[in-house]
Amino acid sequence: MRELTVNLGERSYPIYIGEGLLLEAGAYFVKHGISKKSPLLIITDENVAGKHLDTLASVLRNEDFTVATAVVPAGESSKSLSMLEQLVAKALEAGLDRKSAIVALGGGVVGDLAGFVAASYMRGIKFVQVPTTILAHDSSVGGKVAVNHPLAKNIIGAFHQPEMVLYDLETLQSLPPRDVRSGLSEVVKHGLIWDEAFAHWCGENADRLLALEPDALGYALHKGCSVKAAVVSKDERENDLRAILNLGHTIGHALEAVAGYGELLHGEAISIGMIGSAKLGLRYGAPEEVYTVTKSVLAKCGLPVKLPAEFDVDAIMEAMMHDKKFSENTMVFVVPTAIGTVEIKRDVPVAWVREIVEQLKLEA
Ligand code: NAD
Repeated sequence: MRELTVNLGERSYPIYIGEGLLLEAGAYFVKHGISKKSPLLIITDENVAGKHLDTLASVLRNEDFTVATAVVPAGESSKSLSMLEQLVAKALEAGLDRKSAIVALGGGVVGDLAGFVAASYMRGIKFVQVPTTILAHDSSVGGKVAVNHPLAKNIIGAFHQPEMVLYDLETLQSLPPRDVRSGLSEVVKHGLIWDEAFAHWCGENADRLLALEPDALGYALHKGCSVKAAVVSKDERENDLRAILNLGHTIGHALEAVAGYGELLHGEAISIGMIGSAKLGLRYGAPEEVYTVTKSVLAKCGLPVKLPAEFDVDAIMEAMMHDKKFSENTMVFVVPTAIGTVEIKRDVPVAWVREIVEQLKLEA
C-alpha cells in the first residue's frame, strides 16, 4: 500500500493507493471521521455500478454506515446541471444532512459531478473520492469539481477538497482498453511537466501499463498523484503554478467541445493538445526532443498524436477563445521548455496557435 498526503493546512488529506482497499473501506471511513450517524450517498455510474458498487455499499453497511446509492448514466453528458438537480433530490430523499458525506465511486466524470454535489448541497458537505479509472488519479486529487455547460467544459464548479482518496488498483482491472489508454495521457502529462525521469519511464514501461501490471500501475499512479499533490499544495486555487497542470488542455478542451462531449475521450484530446504544446515549445526555442519524446511516449501508450482530418480548425479556434476568454490577438499557453519543465506563456500569438492546430492534422 502506498500513501501520500496533499498538504493544504487544515484541508490536508491522504491518498491511499493499493490492492483490495475497497474491502477495507469501512476502517478508512472511520479513521477519517466520516459519521455513522448521518446517511452517506454513494454516487457512481452505470458501468462502475455493475462491477464495484455492491462491494463498497455492503462493506460500509457491514460497518453500520447508512448507505444510499445513486447511479448516473456513464459518460461526460452526466456532468450537467440537470444531473446535479436530480442528485440533490436524491440526497434530500435519502435524508443527507450537514454531517453526511458524498462518496464518488468512479472515474473523473463521477468524481467531478459528485464532488460538485458535495460542494453545493447545504453549502458544502464532506466527500470521499474512490477513483476507479487511471485518469482519476488526476481528477480525484486537488479539489476541482464541476459540471459542464453546453458552451464550455467545467465552467460551473467549485474548489472542494475530499476527506481522502481511496484508490483500489483492483478496480482498474475492469477498465475498457480505450479508457486505460486515455488515462495514461494524464500520467504522462505529470512526467512532462515535472519529472523528466518519470516521463521517460512511462515510455519505457508503456507495455506494462497497458497490460495493467499492478507494480507498474501502482508506481505510476503514486508518481502521478505525487506531482499533482505537490503542485496543488503550493497553489490550491490556481493563482499561478497550478496552471501548469493544464499542459495540453487549451487545445484539448476545445477538441472535446467541438467533437461533442464524450466523442473524443478527455485523455485522447489532451494527448493531441500536448503534441500541439510541444510544437509551440519548439517555436520558443525548446530542443527538438521536447517534441520527439512527447510524441513517442504518447504513441507508445496507444494515444492519438494527430488531429483527425474531419475537425474544423475554425470551430476549434472559436471554442478555445470561448473557453478561456482570450484577447483577440494573444493566448495563454503552458509551453514545455524541456522534458519535465514547462513555462506559462501569456502572449502566444493566436496566429501561431492556428498554424499549429492546422499542422496537427499532418502529423505522421
Ligand atoms: P469517466 O469517468 O467517464 O470514465 C471512463 C469510462 O470508464 C466510463 O464509461 C466509466 O463508466 C468507465 N469506468 C470507470 N471505472 C471503471 C471500471 N473500474 N471498470 C469499468 N469501467 C469503468 O472518465 P475519466 O476518463 O475517468 O475522467 C474524465 C473526466 O475527468 C472529464 O470529465 C474531465 O474533465 C475530468 N477531469 C477532471 C480533473 C479535475 O481536476 N477535476 C482533472 C482531469 C480530468
